[in-house]
Amino acid sequence: MSLYRIKKSNIDRNGRGLYAVKNIKEGTKIIDYVGKIITKKQTEENPKFDNNKPIYLFNLNSKYDLDGDVSWNTARLINHSCSNNCDYDGKGLKLWVTAIRDIKKNEEITCDYGFGYDSDYKQFPCKCGSKNCAGYIVREGSRWRINKKFKKSHRINR
Ligand SMILES: [Zn+2]
Repeated sequence: MSLYRIKKSNIDRNGRGLYAVKNIKEGTKIIDYVGKIITKKQTEENPKFDNNKPIYLFNLNSKYDLDGDVSWNTARLINHSCSNNCDYDGKGLKLWVTAIRDIKKNEEITCDYGFGYDSDYKQFPCKCGSKNCAGYIVREGSRWRINKKFKKSHRINR
């Protein structure tokens, strides 16, 4: 039985997201992240990946990337959240999405898109609405660069 369903997202108001259809335990594999396996050369040559922050492009190994921007990849609908409850996971050429904490029924499934900090971070505002939202889609370890409160919580928690 599927652990999620697709519906209109509260985060991406113009798009869809995945929602838990029942309580999900931390560590559960939720969905495979599928797509086209392409060579690094194809990635370099395709203008689609010109952006420094291609949301659907994953590094598999030194030779291959995975382009998840295909209609059959339901996992591409997962939105970014600053308090993500899932993370991308993988082995070999396989990728999937795993719960990193317990998820309640009807909660939206979210990941950390892992964007590094750079000068154009403002192109990617975050609307996740979580208490600790950084305002922009920047990976957890870099958020203190755009908002000092993250530096503080970083020191306290770790
Ligand atoms: Zn956010």
